[in-house]
Amino acid sequence: MTTTETPPAAPVDHDTLTRAQKALLALTGDVARQLAEEHGVCVRPMALRRIDTTTGKVDVVPVPCGARRKDVCRPCAEKWRRLRMVQCREGWHLDEEPVPVRPEPTAAQKAALAIRADLHAAYQDARADGDEEECEQIRDAVALVDDELRALGVTGRLEPLDPPERPAVKRSTRRRQDAPNLPRRPVEKRTLGQVYGGKYRPSTFLTLTLDSYGRVDGNGAAVDPDRYDYRRAARDAIHFSKIVDRFWQNTRRCVGWDVQYFGTIEPQRRGAPHFHAAIRGTIPRAELRAIAAATYHQVWWPAHDTAVYSGDRMPRWDDRARAFVDPDTHEPLPTWEEATDPEVLRTPGHTVFLGAQVHVKGILGGTEEAGRHVGYLTKYLTKHVAHAAGHLADDDGAEVSGRMREHHRRLLAELRVTPCSPRCPVWLLYGVQPKGARPSTASGQCKGKAHRPEHLGIAGRRVLVSRKWSGKALADHQAERAAFVRQLLDRAGVRPGYAVDDGPFEWERTKPGDPDVPTRPALLLAAISQRQRWRADYDAAQALAAAPPDDRSATEGEAA
Ligand SMILES: [Zn+2]
Ligand SMILES: [Zn+2]
Repeated sequence: MTTTETPPAAPVDHDTLTRAQKALLALTGDVARQLAEEHGVCVRPMALRRIDTTTGKVDVVPVPCGARRKDVCRPCAEKWRRLRMVQCREGWHLDEEPVPVRPEPTAAQKAALAIRADLHAAYQDARADGDEEECEQIRDAVALVDDELRALGVTGRLEPLDPPERPAVKRSTRRRQDAPNLPRRPVEKRTLGQVYGGKYRPSTFLTLTLDSYGRVDGNGAAVDPDRYDYRRAARDAIHFSKIVDRFWQNTRRCVGWDVQYFGTIEPQRRGAPHFHAAIRGTIPRAELRAIAAATYHQVWWPAHDTAVYSGDRMPRWDDRARAFVDPDTHEPLPTWEEATDPEVLRTPGHTVFLGAQVHVKGILGGTEEAGRHVGYLTKYLTKHVAHAAGHLADDDGAEVSGRMREHHRRLLAELRVTPCSPRCPVWLLYGVQPKGARPSTASGQCKGKAHRPEHLGIAGRRVLVSRKWSGKALADHQAERAAFVRQLLDRAGVRPGYAVDDGPFEWERTKPGDPDVPTRPALLLAAISQRQRWRADYDAAQALAAAPPDDRSATEGEAA
């Protein structure tokens, strides 16, 4: 069994290091980093000062960084990915309706909520100052805090940073995005699939793709870049998560029960996103195909087909008009609100459709096949989109062909001139003032993730999990895992070789140069030795648990 559990943080104690480890301390940080990676220990731990509020003892301990991408920290990213696998597996073939646990808010939840409130206030300030770069950074930070809050088990609505675009009543019926060709049923409150033959509960693995943009070679690079529709590819990628949302709404209305899914957005080799999902229960293949065919998403943004400005001839901010103006006529450009008024904007700026390729596969719970598909779903989560697609080389990727480099360059060039949101400065190219335009809105340049080479238009979340999937937050799955290991050690009578700490603790940041903070290699080696002792205990407990009952009682007697 593979375990992702981390032993409790232990202080760095030079006395417990072996002579060989002490010798290693003299080596470079690279060696220690490599060693840590081999042992599944965080390679860039933070040194935190831990104060035992009962005994007053103060220790500096390594705390894992918690990164999600393996180019940042492979062990932490891998640990996170495995937790996602557990979450996916647990919800897929549930045979009872999940009951969400809703305990009192914990100290950790309250702390995270307080941080979020601070960020929310900072965002409003940054927006008032028109500091789009700051806004973007805060949005990223809030996304992390929100993930953290969800992981800590916080449910319900979190205040959005930007107020809703406009009241829904102002929209004309012309803009409704129903799928009129589908049957529409009231949605029952059930999330479980049907049971066949009293025990089989088949579930579904679904893959949704986007349309073809032109012929590609075996690697996914365009055969003829001049005839590949990079514009539509770029726009579809930017709006992909919206059409996935729309697909689930339509599915629930069409099948009449509260369909649950664990899905991931991953790139195909051509660079277009596709969506894999584990669905609890079965839905007829023909029905899923019909829903996909009827699903579309209209983007009610101004037309952005032809750039009005480029190069040196760009709109300029005019202090008197408090607006961006045409560089020649000095006329103010239409504001976002003017350009998107339903009276003015008669057709959507873009419409996303799903491609004809819809893969549906029935999967039985608990089978080897189910396990394999959980693997597919989470395989590339710790990689950047462009690395997963093979557009950019990474340490375990193959070489990138010249044709692929050209394909990536063309797609990226299109993404650079495709607006990523109503606030995107790229709107200036098309003669529209972005929403909330300010003097500091850099003319035509957007630093948003969607435009960056490693993201290929996919700026948001990669894992989309419906609310009633496992009835547990990521943190619950993590806590369960820890409890399982503790119980295993307990039952086998194995006394942990690492110190069991008292607490409660208070934590304090350290600064580089603090006299009690060990060097990075020392910190890594301490974490490695801790991990080794923990691993030995765990293996011993597993061996005992697997031993015949007679042996076990004898050993238990000894240990007690
Ligand atoms: Zn780490
Ligand atoms: Zn942008």
